[in-house]
Amino acid sequence: MSWHHRVWMYDRLNPTRGGIKPEFYDKVEDFIETISKLDVVKSEGKCRCPCVKCRCTNYKELNIIKMHLWEKGFMPNYWIWTEHGEIDDIGINQMGFNNCGEGGSGSGANVEECDMYDISWEDNSRRYHEMVFDSVGPEDPHVEAKNFFDLLEATQKPLWEGCVHSQLSIAVRMLCIKAEENQSQESFKQWATLIREIAPEGSAIPRDYYEAKKLVQNLGLKAIKIDCCSNNCMLYRKDDAALTSCKFCEAPRFKPISDGGCKSKRVPVRRMHYLPLIPRLRRLYASMSSAPHMTWHIKNQRDDGVMIHPSHGEAWKSFDRIHSDFALEPRNIRLGLCSNGFTPNIQFSKPYSCWPVIVIPYNLPPGMCMKDPYLFLTCLIPGPNNPKANIDVFLGPLIDELNELWNPGVLTYDIVEKKNFVLKAALM
Ligand SMILES: [Zn+2]
Ligand SMILES: [Zn+2]
Repeated sequence: MSWHHRVWMYDRLNPTRGGIKPEFYDKVEDFIETISKLDVVKSEGKCRCPCVKCRCTNYKELNIIKMHLWEKGFMPNYWIWTEHGEIDDIGINQMGFNNCGEGGSGSGANVEECDMYDISWEDNSRRYHEMVFDSVGPEDPHVEAKNFFDLLEATQKPLWEGCVHSQLSIAVRMLCIKAEENQSQESFKQWATLIREIAPEGSAIPRDYYEAKKLVQNLGLKAIKIDCCSNNCMLYRKDDAALTSCKFCEAPRFKPISDGGCKSKRVPVRRMHYLPLIPRLRRLYASMSSAPHMTWHIKNQRDDGVMIHPSHGEAWKSFDRIHSDFALEPRNIRLGLCSNGFTPNIQFSKPYSCWPVIVIPYNLPPGMCMKDPYLFLTCLIPGPNNPKANIDVFLGPLIDELNELWNPGVLTYDIVEKKNFVLKAALM
């Protein structure tokens, strides 16, 4: 027998409006109906009351039991009604799937308790997952995720036996040094050659900047360059990708070709960088360092008026009420968006401001949510001027991705559950 259909037992109170959930009333009626068929009830008109106070030790009349359950709720760990004729053959009641008061979202008094028992929640959730695994088993990642994991595995082998570096770690380290020390590509190549000479023959150390970059690029998250009109009217993408002048102001897309210049490699007047969001969100579920934290918000709800995370705010809760389907999957991501002007080279006389657009997944716990690894730069709007009202032109690629994330969603591999699921995201 399973306990999943009994979740209502510990979901008595309405987290936001207060009072008892209508579903709880109905289910208690069903419970009373069920126990009314017991022999003991038929003969004596009474049976054990499973409320928090009586804990199946006191015999009460059915209408009293009903009142007790409405007022106090069920005693903890009474998933299987063993005192009312059911058999708990696999010991579910002893497993301690305690629902932490009222579904973890209970009234103020329960909140402290929830924080205290955070660890036991994790513990229970682990047991729950073990149970699910036993019945269904893990799933292979979908094609894209599988390619990523295969590639990661291949590049993470040590360069030679006993070496602390893998092909990936050395490539990343070398690129890092290049960027920090402003090394030229030629200098990079010479250092790489030197390292290759010292290392045992045949070790997979990148030969030059190009090789290192290519290796990391295959694993990493791509950035897209999109040409844009110099007057911020449009982006040259989708149907307009081939145009050579602006549809609205007719400004040319490319700089004029100088004498003897190459015709095939034309230089755009302006160009924005776009860092696609979907692969970054998927990556959150591909790593054990972030995936388990993505459902923090559902385990740490609170209603005591103290807000330590966006999920404790009214906006989040009202969103849950309006889009209950979305809220049912705790792994779905709520995003925040912000942008501000940024002057990269203030010491020069010519003013220049570019506009980074940053997207933040709010699912993460407060300690991770606002940390730089989880602040995703999506659009980098080029200067020299503030895009002002035309900022929405530059947000086009992001809007397309957000639409896809909202409906239909994207197939994502969850490394915690070892299963694929449809990930959706909403901008709050
Ligand atoms: Zn009672
Ligand atoms: Zn234009």
